[in-house]
Amino acid sequence: DVDVPESHPRYESLLTRHRIEEGVEKGITSRQGLIAQGRGEAFDYLLGEETIPSADRAERAAAAQLLLAEKPVLSVNGNVAALVPKEIVELAEAVDADIEVNLFNRTEQRMEAIATHLREHGADEVKGLAADARIPGLDHERAKVDADGIRAADVVLVPLEDGDRAAALAEMGKTEIVIDLNPRSRSTEVAAVPVVDNIIRAVPNITRHARELADATPETLTEQIEHFDPDEARRDAEHRIRDGDLA
Ligand code: ATP
Ligand code: MG
Repeated sequence: DVDVPESHPRYESLLTRHRIEEGVEKGITSRQGLIAQGRGEAFDYLLGEETIPSADRAERAAAAQLLLAEKPVLSVNGNVAALVPKEIVELAEAVDADIEVNLFNRTEQRMEAIATHLREHGADEVKGLAADARIPGLDHERAKVDADGIRAADVVLVPLEDGDRAAALAEMGKTEIVIDLNPRSRSTEVAAVPVVDNIIRAVPNITRHARELADATPETLTEQIEHFDPDEARRDAEHRIRDGDLA
């Protein structure tokens, strides 16, 4: 879908940019989404544009959390829908989770465009349009969620989430898995499972771990979660960025 030779040293990054541009053209991604992408790219460059070992451990813990959850929900915004629509549907299938569209700058038009885009990539049900519940502590538009979706979820995957909303969800007692390339963002800081990795690599890798763990007992899944240290994961990512340390 884009004319970038695969041999180009920044192939993946250019492809990603192209998908975000296309998302904006299709009315899926907001213009602020372009800025968020730029912030992410800078961190990814410093991380070496690869999944560092501590991020892989976080992705395994994320898979275990989603498999153990009673009601897992994957939250999707305009950047997520543009970058990994098929991969989100695959993860939802692997862990039996619901998909809910959740926008920082919510417009009905963009909600519909994203839901349609996800269905075109294989989703059979997309939540978020009912908006019949609220997240306490946020202003009206930003608080909207589905009663039988994020409101009722025990474990939520929130990629590229706004800091306030991530904090409000944690406040509600949800177990949050955050995917965010900034190890110091407030979203990363409030996450039970902070995944400091590009969503392009993170989502397929969580799915791979989930498939590997599909037949694991609840005890084994719990062990995976207990062995994971979120503070260490945040520290490892920051060391990698500051010093190029391999964590
Ligand atoms: P804070 O979380 O500190 O409140 P914010 O939510 O206002 O900050 P935004 O720019 O809205 O900051 O959030 C975008 C976040 O998403 C940034 O932290 C950025 O690093 C991250 N990000 C952007 N693109 C990607 C991507 N492709 N994969 C993973 N993370 C990304
Ligand atoms: Mg943030």
